[in-house]
Amino acid sequence: MVVAMGAGDKGEPARVATSTASVSALEVQTPALSETTQVYGSVETTESPGVVEVPDFVGRSLAEVQLVASAAGISVDVVEDASVTPTSDGDARTVLEQEPACGGIVTIGSMVTVTVTPSVNPANSVTGLVVCLDPGHQSHSDTSQEPVGPGADETKDRVKGGSTGTTTLIPEYEITLQIALNLKARLEAEGISVVMTRETNDVNLSNAERARIANESGAALFVRVHGDGSPDPDASGISVLYPASSGWTVPISSASAEAAARVQSALIASTGAVNRGTIVRDDITGFNWSEVPAILVECGFMSNPVEDKLLSSPHYQDKLATGMASGIVNYLGR
Ligand SMILES: [Zn+2]
Repeated sequence: MVVAMGAGDKGEPARVATSTASVSALEVQTPALSETTQVYGSVETTESPGVVEVPDFVGRSLAEVQLVASAAGISVDVVEDASVTPTSDGDARTVLEQEPACGGIVTIGSMVTVTVTPSVNPANSVTGLVVCLDPGHQSHSDTSQEPVGPGADETKDRVKGGSTGTTTLIPEYEITLQIALNLKARLEAEGISVVMTRETNDVNLSNAERARIANESGAALFVRVHGDGSPDPDASGISVLYPASSGWTVPISSASAEAAARVQSALIASTGAVNRGTIVRDDITGFNWSEVPAILVECGFMSNPVEDKLLSSPHYQDKLATGMASGIVNYLGR
């Protein structure tokens, strides 16, 4: 898990901002929202809890649709219309049709199928690209300090030990390494070169050092894998954090947001987990030091007895790795 600055000792991590569609989460998190808040799309709340109105996607870019859908708690199934001539810009894939139509009321987590103009990029366009994977935490925390960003006076612990499964008692650093190694194999099968920040638990790598490994690897994307935690044992689901469009992370925020939306959408489709949306953060050392687009996947709550067991299950780890790989390939090949 990643605890925001200012969070209480035992408190729910204070999200700097959220684009989740979870009604209760929005209500709870409202006091923590700041000027960096980025909420995409609208969310039906008190009148009809658990449902949302399908936004109008037709004519919008696929990237925009994925951000809006993620914020609304809707999954997107993308179908290419091969009869249409590809656009010259792979980023500008445009939605031609959607099902269900806009204005319909669906439950949160529902799938909307969008038909888009084909990508100009061939399917193997990701071959040779580098992805840096960072399994969160390590067997021992290191509370000595490092600057929160380049040139910063403010410091934070070099690296925390992470959380522990409430039922399994398995530490977060073991789970994150298992999931990341699973993901590594899937990305390599797609022709992607993978650089790991660590492949064993007995290391001492600060968050800034992990970002430097990503920078020096020439990664097209820096993917950090974590487990979440909360004082509420019922809290569950997946979110993907990305760096804010302020401070050190201005150059990487936009691309990171797009990667986050694609990975979140694919993860919800592969796991069926509660969709907590993508969350912008300006307080994460490993983002502040990153010079390449970066995301942090909170794979599920180790404080939730059910998700704790799922996170240690090889079958569920397969689902997580499949979803992440799909979202990453989708982002890299856009
Ligand atoms: Zn963590």
